[in-house]
Amino acid sequence: MPSLRISRIEKRTRVEGPGLRYSIWVQGCPIRCEGCFNPHTWDSNGGYTKDIDEILMEIKNTLETATELEGVTFLGGEPFSQAKELSILAQKIKKMNLSVVTFTGYEYEMILRSPNREWHRLLKETDLLIDGPYIQAQHDLSRPWIGSKNQNYRFLTDVYKHLESSLPLIPNKLEIRLHPDGSISANGMAESIDLHMLLELDYVRKE
Ligand code: SF4
Repeated sequence: MPSLRISRIEKRTRVEGPGLRYSIWVQGCPIRCEGCFNPHTWDSNGGYTKDIDEILMEIKNTLETATELEGVTFLGGEPFSQAKELSILAQKIKKMNLSVVTFTGYEYEMILRSPNREWHRLLKETDLLIDGPYIQAQHDLSRPWIGSKNQNYRFLTDVYKHLESSLPLIPNKLEIRLHPDGSISANGMAESIDLHMLLELDYVRKE
């Protein structure tokens, strides 16, 4: 079974797409948007590798203890740089009756025009695609899960169609975790001033 190059996994998060989700930040992004929130995910040699079978087992275990888990989110990094592996994983996730949300810095129209078959396979397994690069000059956190005005929601199946009209009512949120070793991690969307305050808090606590 193939493996994925990963930056981070959160087994339970409520801020990376609809409902409770298992989220995978893949490692490696060739798009390199100015002002990207996750520049540490750019290096395609960074992060660590994890077997798809192992990830599936972890998702199954998470589902057993968190029955309200409704899906898996692929973000990054650039998920379409590992489209082959993610489409294999997504196919198995769908068989577990879980949804798939995929983020990409590429534009949907470009993906549709691409001759890359793996890209089309990943699209086929995706329920909700959130596409487009982060454009600093169009920074906007008023819509859920995304950071700039140019980015779009593509409802590729009926699974999340019901959200189309209520999207403006879903607030952007930040999740903060305090780990047993004393470190703090965050995910979700927040103004950079909030993130700076958080980093300062982490610094003060470690003094
Ligand atoms: S596509 Fe996403 S991960 Fe890649 S540089 Fe842009 S914002 Fe960052």
